[in-house]
This record gives sequence, C-alpha cells and structure tokens, in this order.
Amino acid sequence: MPEVELLLRSRRVVTPEGVRAASVAVAGGRIAALLPHSAQAPPGAAVADFGDDALLPGLVDTHVHVNDPGRTEWEGFHTATRAAAAGGVTTLVDMPLNSLPPTTTVPNLHVKQAVAGPKAHVDVGFWGGALPTNRADLRPLHEAGVFGFKAFLSPSGVEEFPPLGPRELEAAAREIAGFGGLLIVHAEDPGRLDAAPAAEGPRYAGFLASRPRTAENEAIDALIALARRLEVRIHILHLSSADALPAIAAAKADGVPVTAETCPHFLTLTAEEVPDGATEFKCCPPIREAANQDALWAGLAAGTVDCVVSDHSPCTTDLKVPDFGRAWGGISSLQLGLPVLWTEARRRGHTLHDVARWTATAPAALASLGCKGAIAPGRDADFAVLAPDETFTVDAAALHHRNPVTAYAGRTLHGVVRSSWLRGRKIADRGTPLAGPVGRLLERA
Ligand SMILES: [Zn+2]
Repeated sequence: MPEVELLLRSRRVVTPEGVRAASVAVAGGRIAALLPHSAQAPPGAAVADFGDDALLPGLVDTHVHVNDPGRTEWEGFHTATRAAAAGGVTTLVDMPLNSLPPTTTVPNLHVKQAVAGPKAHVDVGFWGGALPTNRADLRPLHEAGVFGFKAFLSPSGVEEFPPLGPRELEAAAREIAGFGGLLIVHAEDPGRLDAAPAAEGPRYAGFLASRPRTAENEAIDALIALARRLEVRIHILHLSSADALPAIAAAKADGVPVTAETCPHFLTLTAEEVPDGATEFKCCPPIREAANQDALWAGLAAGTVDCVVSDHSPCTTDLKVPDFGRAWGGISSLQLGLPVLWTEARRRGHTLHDVARWTATAPAALASLGCKGAIAPGRDADFAVLAPDETFTVDAAALHHRNPVTAYAGRTLHGVVRSSWLRGRKIADRGTPLAGPVGRLLERA
C-alpha cells in the first residue's frame, strides 16, 4: 500500500451512499480511504480543505465527439480535454465518428490513440463503430480495448459512417453478443424520418416535425426486441422522446440488458424557447417540448434513464447557418454539462448525490470502467470540486472548446467548478486547465 500523499476535506463529499462531511485519503493516485472530516493528515501528506464546496467524483462523459484527427477545426483532443478538465470531466470516451479516420478498424484505433495520447488533459477511452462493412473488425477492436460499438439506423451526417440496415444490425448484434460486447445505438428509424416533412428554413417547429417522436419510439422498440432475443447489451444513446420510457422501463423490469442515457440539453432546453434561426440548438434527435422534458426528468428519477452525458458534438461557426435543414446538428456542452444539469436538477429537488450517479457512477458502469465514477476506496482519485450555490453567466468565448458556439450562451447557471483532479493531481483551477497532457488512454478492462 503506497503512503497517503493527499487528504481532501469537504463538508459535502458525494459518496455512493450519500453526501457527508469527510476527508478523502489519496495514495498512489487512488482513493485509499474515506476518513472522518476531522482526521489528521499523515506526516508528509498535503491537505486541501474545500470547506462547504462539494467534492464530487470526476465526471465520466461517455458521449463526446472529439473529431481528431481529420476535423480538428471542429474540435480536437487538446481543446476538448482542456474543456473537459475545466468543467469537472476527468474521463471522456470518444465517439467513433466525425474524425477521419473513424474508429472502425484496429489500425484506425491506433491512429486515434497516437493522436490523442500526447494531447490528453483528462483520461480518454474510445468507442468503436459498427458499419455495414466492418463486421470482421468488431472482435479485434473489442480485443484492442474499445468500450463498445456505436451504430446508426439512419444517416449519421457523415458519409464515411453509414447506417446499418435491419439485417446488418442483427448481424452486428449477434457478433457483439458472441464476445459479450456492448452495442450503443443512435435510435431513430429511417423510414419514419423519410416519411416526415423535410426540415428547411429558420423555424424550429419545422425541424422538430422532421424528427418525430415515432422515429425514436419505433427504433427503441426494435432495439429492445433485439436485446431481448439475442441477449446482447444495448445502450440507447441520447434519449429525447419520453414516449419511449415505458418500453425501456418494462424491458428493464423483464431483465432485458438495455440501458439509456439522456443529455443536459434535453433536460434543460425546450422546443418552445428556441429562437428562429438559432441552429446552435439543432441536434438529432431534437430538443422537444416542455412536457416531454418533465417526463424525461421523471424517467431519470425513476432510474429508467441511467446516465446523463453531453453528446458534445461541435463544429465551426460557419456550419451553424440559420437554416435548420442545412446547419450541422450538434450541441457543444462538454465544459458546461455539470452546471447546466445541476441548475435544473436543484430546481426540481434533486441532490448532488443524484447528479454524481447520473454523470459519473452510471456512465462508468456503462463502460465497465471499474476504477472510475465514485468516491470510494480503490477508485482513481478523480474529483470535481463544485461551489453548488454560486452562479455564473456563460460566455461562449471564454470556454475552452475549439469553437465558441453553445446553446447556453448568456445563461446564468448554478454551480461553479472550482477545480478538477485526476489521480490526485489538480488538472484545472477556476476554469483554467493546469498540469498539461497528464491524461491516460484507457482500454476496456
Ligand atoms: Zn453523438
């Protein structure tokens, strides 16, 4: 057992059991023990006392599009991981598309790892991608350490990452089930999207009508049926339609291996408030009505939705033309996810304990990252220190994202991230990344 090098004290330590005053002993970059708040520091150990600021597990954001290499003018590992560190996110798992190459073969994964390693300010893992043409690559990618496989059922937005048809989906699911892997899916049914009126122009209502709830609901029904039949683990990405919650809840109650995530934008922004031409609010599936948002919160409270992750999907400002048909779809929020979520969660009576479960513990469990996601002995000493009652106003230009585009510009949020810690080392202080690229590349255990 290495010696305790650091003692972190807070009157609000957010543990899996609840929030309490404690001192967290760190040894060898890991959490060694939770001690009484008044515990003496061992000789030679540094002490950081956060007073009333909350000590949360560092966020584990399993849905980030870094786009590096290939579309680094949209985002890159340097900017994304610095934004993550500033926002309390200490682990991110990169999506397999929007970079060139996409993460769909082992050589491509190695390209991504080589690019990310020297730039990673937080720990970085990778999802693989399932394409119509790469079934033989799935097992080698699994063995090379990707955390699971992303698939689309409808066009992804980039031509190098085509969707799976029903037979291809089934074949990929069988292959993934064969090695005990995880399939993560953008769930929108292409037939329902094709049948809807096409999006065009600056009106948000037209865009919303082009991505109807039925497209999500039917895709999710089909995925649940597949998970039930093949006993393959399926994770529903970025759930927007609350209509699908009863089906997900029923499947879970039956023991079907299905999980779901939603995103801060679905929980805090509503279709009713999107101004004309404001395509920084465009994402797929779309932000829906206020009543739908209330139901999503109920699904989260009930445990039907497991995780809240960013789906940070940035682009350059010129791609956000004021036309919902032509603009790139994606919302940038990597640095803001924690305060955005906390602002609304506290208003609705949720606690920091809930927020830690949704943003750290559950995503770590999804990716089988046993060393992340909780303030508990044996886990990595990754933390976000949050002043939960303090407020700030979002200035897009001050964010560390590559491009100053965000749907939250000008909003006043509760919860200031004071500092972030990775394996016992401070990596950001008051919004400024420190320590350089000390993040590690993570592989599935
Ligand atoms: Zn995404």
